[in-house]
Amino acid sequence: MTLATFSRSAKTLHPAALQQLYAALETARKIIVIGGGFIGVEMAEQISLMGKTGQHPFEVTIIEMLPHCLMLACEEEFCVQAEDELRRMDINIMTNSRVEALEGEKTVSAVKLADGTSLPADLVIIGIGAVANIDLAVKMGLDADPRGGIQVNEYMQTSDPDIYAAGDCATKFSLITGKPSGIRLASVACSEGMIAASNIYGTTRKTMGALGAFATKIGNRSIAAAGLTTSAAAKEEIEVIIGEATAPNRHPGGLPGCTMDMKVKLLFRKDTGAIVGGHVSGGESAADMVNIIAIAIQDKLNAEQLATMQYATHPMLTASPLAYHVMLAAENAALQF
Ligand SMILES: Cc1cc2nc3c(=O)[nH]c(=O)nc-3n(C[C@H](O)[C@H](O)[C@H](O)COP(=O)(O)OP(=O)(O)OC[C@H]3O[C@@H](n4cnc5c(N)ncnc54)[C@H](O)[C@@H]3O)c2cc1C
Repeated sequence: MTLATFSRSAKTLHPAALQQLYAALETARKIIVIGGGFIGVEMAEQISLMGKTGQHPFEVTIIEMLPHCLMLACEEEFCVQAEDELRRMDINIMTNSRVEALEGEKTVSAVKLADGTSLPADLVIIGIGAVANIDLAVKMGLDADPRGGIQVNEYMQTSDPDIYAAGDCATKFSLITGKPSGIRLASVACSEGMIAASNIYGTTRKTMGALGAFATKIGNRSIAAAGLTTSAAAKEEIEVIIGEATAPNRHPGGLPGCTMDMKVKLLFRKDTGAIVGGHVSGGESAADMVNIIAIAIQDKLNAEQLATMQYATHPMLTASPLAYHVMLAAENAALQF
């Protein structure tokens, strides 16, 4: 048996909840999004766009307790770029601000911050993470806790070896540090589902742990990340060598659709040389570029290997072969070892 009973957010976005949201947007003007992670940022962006193209504009505010939006996954400089895009779309951003309470009789009328400020709101969207849905597992007597999820081993077996769990409901560990991980992503869920299904049918597969590969598009900028940020590496006391490259993502740069300042930043462990993080900001190819980096992290490639990699290039699709971002950033790091 395989359990894939997902995670439970403050309000899961199932179709009925979306209909409720659309209905609320018909009358709401002041919208507060609590949490500036990927979900909060994307909700704010889409609602703001709906307001600009629909029947009335919205006043959208993101409240984030960290110094920047997207900071748990992305490099600070790319978080700042994302915030610039959001502000360009007239979205207000309040960082270093912790929400303490929602105020109102029957319906919400304001959001109260820890510093006592009360912000009027017609509609509040909460995007502050999720906890695993372990109800069924608990009823079945499996080891599970609400924070981590249903306890599984590397084969995705629960405490009953004939029952498997995969996806948001299952416990995870970090591919890089081996420590318990709160990463909940569709890509991780699919990988775990493949592993659980294979093991049920007799092909032994093990999870390597959750890597955390993210991609988003905010306004005109795509931002993607895999593995550790510089600050997460520092927190883990992992010393890193950082390689960077900025180049146009077409050649020559004047071609249509070119992002002139596409940037890649790669983090390599100083002790082993293995890549542990990669960050991309620029055009839409950021997502696929970070997938190359994700594979490199899984295979523990080093800067030399990435600096001499072979890759596809085309004037209308990529940087020049001489300026391919991943290769250049790896070479920049290789020179520092
Ligand atoms: C707004 C939003 C945006 C996201 N965007 C991204 C993204 O861009 N990229 C990304 O990688 N991840 C994204 N995620 C995360 C991603 O959606 C989840 O990680 C992924 O869906 C997890 O897959 P899952 O199969 O474990 O759970 P789910 O997709 O939630 O599926 C679990 C299913 O089990 C059903 N279920 C639960 N209990 C029972 C029961 N007792 N009996 C029968 N059925 C049951 C549920 O109804 C549900 O259909 C996003 C999440 C949200 C909320």
